[in-house]
Amino acid sequence: MNNFILSLDQGTTSSRTIVFDDVANIVSSSQLEFQQYFPQSGWVEHDPMEILSSQLWTLKEAMQKVKFTLGDKFTIGITNQRETVVAWNKKTGKPYYNAIVWQDTRTSNYCKELQGKGYSDLLKNKTGLVLDSYFSASKMNWIINNVPEAKIGLDNNELLFGTIDTWLIWNLTKGQSYVTDVSNASRTLLFNINSCQWDEELLSIFEIPLECLPEVKSSSDDFGFFEFNDQKIPINGVAGDQQAALFGQCCFEKGMAKNTYGTGCFMLMNTGDKKISSNNGLLTTIAWKINGKITYALEGSVFVAGSAIQWLRDGLQIIENASASEKLALEANPNNEVYVVPAFAGLGAPYWDMYARGGILGLTRDSGIAEITKATLDSLAYQTKDVLDAMMKDANIPLTSLQVDGGACANNYLMQFQSDILRTDIDRPICKESTALGVAFLAGLQANIWSLEDILKVRKTEKIFQPIMDEATAQAKYRKWNKAVSRIREWSE
Ligand code: ADP
Repeated sequence: MNNFILSLDQGTTSSRTIVFDDVANIVSSSQLEFQQYFPQSGWVEHDPMEILSSQLWTLKEAMQKVKFTLGDKFTIGITNQRETVVAWNKKTGKPYYNAIVWQDTRTSNYCKELQGKGYSDLLKNKTGLVLDSYFSASKMNWIINNVPEAKIGLDNNELLFGTIDTWLIWNLTKGQSYVTDVSNASRTLLFNINSCQWDEELLSIFEIPLECLPEVKSSSDDFGFFEFNDQKIPINGVAGDQQAALFGQCCFEKGMAKNTYGTGCFMLMNTGDKKISSNNGLLTTIAWKINGKITYALEGSVFVAGSAIQWLRDGLQIIENASASEKLALEANPNNEVYVVPAFAGLGAPYWDMYARGGILGLTRDSGIAEITKATLDSLAYQTKDVLDAMMKDANIPLTSLQVDGGACANNYLMQFQSDILRTDIDRPICKESTALGVAFLAGLQANIWSLEDILKVRKTEKIFQPIMDEATAQAKYRKWNKAVSRIREWSE
C-alpha cells in the first residue's frame, strides 16, 4: 500500500497539481494556464468557474499518470494565490461576479478614505497588515456595493465570500464544507491575528456580515472529502502560497527564513509563537496553525527582482536568456564598481519611496555589458539584504539560515554573492516546488503519513552556499549600495 499526496496549487496565472509519494518525490504533475481579465485600468479579474475547471483538469490529468494499486491511500493539500476574492450564491453555486485578484487596485480610493478616518493603526494592530486594496476586505465591500445581485443575495442570506481555497473546497466537497485556514484568513484584513478569529469591529468597518465568511480551521485539519474514482479523498492541508513555501522549506524554527526569487522576491521569516509588529513597513502574518499552536511570520517583498533580468534580456537586449546572466557576471571585471538600482516603479520595504527611480551608477569607460549584468544580479542580493535586515531589526532575531527557491535561485553566481553579502548559509533544496511541497507536508501531517521529524528528513538540500568573500569587502560593497540607493531616492518627485 502506498500513500500519495495530491497538491493543488492554484496560482495567479495557472492551476497546477503535483502528486507526491510519501517520501516527497514528485510522481506526476500537470499545469494549465487560464485567462486574465483586465476590464479597466488597474482592474484584474479571473473567472471562478475557469479557476475551478482548470484546477480539476490538472487534478485528473496528474492522477491519470500515477500508477496506483488497489488499497493505495490519497490525501489532498490546497495552496493558492492569496487575497483574491470570490462571491457566490450558496443555493445555486453560481458566482455573482468574477474573482477580484490581489493585484486589482479598484478599491484604492476607498482604502484611502478609510485611512483618512484613522483606521490604519487599528487595522495594523489587529491584522498585522496595512490598509491597502491588495487585501480581501475592500474587494468584498466593492462587490456588495457594485453588484446588485450580490446585494440581493446578501439580503437573502444566500451570499458566500471566500478566498480561492474556500471556493475550491466548497466545490470539491459539493457544498458540504465552507471553510478556510488561518494563513488565508490572515490576509483578508478581517481576521484578528491575536485572538485568531474574525473580528466584529473589522467586519463592521468593511460592512461584511459574519454569516458570509467561512469557518477558519488549522492549516493541517479535516476540511472535507472529495469524491474521485469512487474514493472519498480527504482534504487535509490548506495554506496560502507564501506560507506554504515557508513550510515546504522546513523553516520550522524561529529565525529561519525563505526567499523566493521570482518576478519579485517574497521573503518570510518564522518568528515563532510571537506576533511581531514591524516598524519598517513589513507585514505580520500567521504562517500556520498546527495542533492548536499558531506560528507567526514577518513578510517582506522586493518589487523588481527576476523582472530586472528580463529587462536585461528584453529592454537592453544584452543577454539572450536569463540563465546567460550567470556566465556574463563571472566574466565581469571584479574591480569595476557599477551599481544598478532597479527601482523602476519606486522602492518598497524598507524605503517605501514611490518617487525613487532606477539608476546605473559608478560607470567608468571600461564598464560594459558584463559589468551591468553582474550589477543587476547583485541588486537582487542587496535588496534581499535590505529586507532581511529590516526583519531582523523588527524581530530582534538573528537570521539562522536562508532557504531559497524560485526561478532565479538557479543562478549560482547570484546565490554565492547572496551568501557573501548576508554572511549566512544559503540552502537550495533539490525540490524547488516549495509551495506544493509545503501543503503536501501539511496534509501529510494530518493524514499521519509524516511527523515533523520525518519531514525534516524528507527535505533534501541540493547545494549550500557559504560566505567566501572577506567580510570587510562585503560590508564595503553593501555601504556603496546604500550610497547608490540614496542617489536615486525621490527622483521623480
Ligand atoms: P514567477 O513565479 O514570479 O513567474 P519564477 O519563479 O518562474 O517567477 O522565476 C522567473 C524569473 O526568474 C524571471 O523573472 C527570470 O528573469 C528569472 N530567472 C530565471 N532563471 C534565471 C537565472 N538563471 N538567473 C537569473 N534570473 C533568472
